[in-house]
Amino acid sequence: MKPVIALVGRPNVGKSTLFNRMTKSRDAIVADFSGLTRDRHYGDGRLGNREFIVVDTGGFEPDSTTGIVKEMARQTRQAVAEADVVVFVVDVRNGLSGQDHDIARFLRQANKRVLLTVNKAEGMQESPLLAEFYELGMGEPHPISAAHGQGIRSLLEAALEDFPEDEDEPEDEADGPIRLAVAGRPNVGKSTLINTWLGEERLIAFDMPGTTRDAIKVPLERDGQRFELIDTAGLRRKGKVFEAIEKFSVVKTLQAIADANVVVLMIDATQGVSEQDAHIAGYILDSGRAVVIAINKWDAIDSYQRQTLERSIESRLAFLKFAPLLNISALRRQGLGPLWKAIADAHASATCKMPTPVLTRLLHEAVEHQNPKRVGAYRPKMRYAHQGGMNPPIIVIHGNSLEHVTEVYKRYLEGRFREHFKLVGTPLRIQMKLSG
Ligand code: GDP
Ligand code: GDP
Repeated sequence: MKPVIALVGRPNVGKSTLFNRMTKSRDAIVADFSGLTRDRHYGDGRLGNREFIVVDTGGFEPDSTTGIVKEMARQTRQAVAEADVVVFVVDVRNGLSGQDHDIARFLRQANKRVLLTVNKAEGMQESPLLAEFYELGMGEPHPISAAHGQGIRSLLEAALEDFPEDEDEPEDEADGPIRLAVAGRPNVGKSTLINTWLGEERLIAFDMPGTTRDAIKVPLERDGQRFELIDTAGLRRKGKVFEAIEKFSVVKTLQAIADANVVVLMIDATQGVSEQDAHIAGYILDSGRAVVIAINKWDAIDSYQRQTLERSIESRLAFLKFAPLLNISALRRQGLGPLWKAIADAHASATCKMPTPVLTRLLHEAVEHQNPKRVGAYRPKMRYAHQGGMNPPIIVIHGNSLEHVTEVYKRYLEGRFREHFKLVGTPLRIQMKLSG
């Protein structure tokens, strides 16, 4: 599971600047869930081959008791509860404030690993001004400059030191269970579906993990195929371990998606596709996971609503065209057989084996049918193709002048490959590799 780093600090110390820095290496994958939960931003970051999630908590005022500010404090508490490491940001140019002391007190009670981070310290690595921050009793201050990109790497190394480098996934997972996550915003019906799948007894029977870091994984079997259901905090759990965490958790959803082989994206038919749904869908796409879209509460809409729904799917989820749409009613147990089949098919597609001779033949046929455009003096020459990965499947094309292959042409190739291998419910990535 990806470790979670929460950025905490009073307003204007530079948290969003630091957030952008930490997530920069994977710009495209930054999922902005700000529409989902006020003033919190979630992003993916990477250090070497280690991946992590960063949560920017916005501003934090622990003593506030009213309105928006109170809501922000609540959000921050949740982010801290879900984090593995807290980066507590203070500002060397403004010095320590009463608010910093309040936050420090709160963080001590939260019992999390905290890295005291002194921002805006460009050119001040050795400055005596840093000594002031020992007063907070949060250990040694880490000087950084978020704006100038100084000290970020060593901060991240410190933050991630307890977490091992990602091990390489075993190449052939054919014998293991299919890891499955049900993702969607609150109230779409995730728990209802999961309860239907599991039966109430099962929910009580399985073991609770000892710490919040261990993901709950529930074993399931269907038509002889083993599954492992990854918790997205939709499971209703009792007991004190998760008390501090609200039922819907963006962090848990992001981690579950990253950990899954197949994601069921659940949409509420009565609500249509919202911006939040599109955010989650975007994150699933970036993750490369196989995906099926379950349109739940199909029982509760009339034919007029169906038309509106179809239009919202077409406009908002166009980028997930490859994902099958399943109309279901989790409550009435309708459409669940086809949903299982779609999940299994998506997994089969995502882990499909594509032999080099077949790929190369398909490539040559595609080129024969339609040549890539000449760009200036160059015409891309595609020589052969091989499979570079699974879940998502990656096809690597070798040749010359491949940097001139257009996006349109790549999509054309993708379509040809998809058709041949009958790929459903998985993204397919095409990579160009210039030969020698
Ligand atoms: P947040 O409210 O904590 O998210 O703070 P922001 O990231 O919005 O930054 C507040 C202000 O501090 C902005 O004007 C930033 O440009 C500035 N700032 C952020 N990081 C640095 C830094 O490393 N050095 C300096 N000098 N200014 C910074
Ligand atoms: P979650 O927050 O995504 O886990 O959503 P829940 O499973 O708690 O469901 C939210 C509400 O939607 C509950 O009142 C459910 O009874 C209702 N619901 C769930 N599935 C269906 C369905 O298929 N049809 C209808 N009409 N209501 C449903």
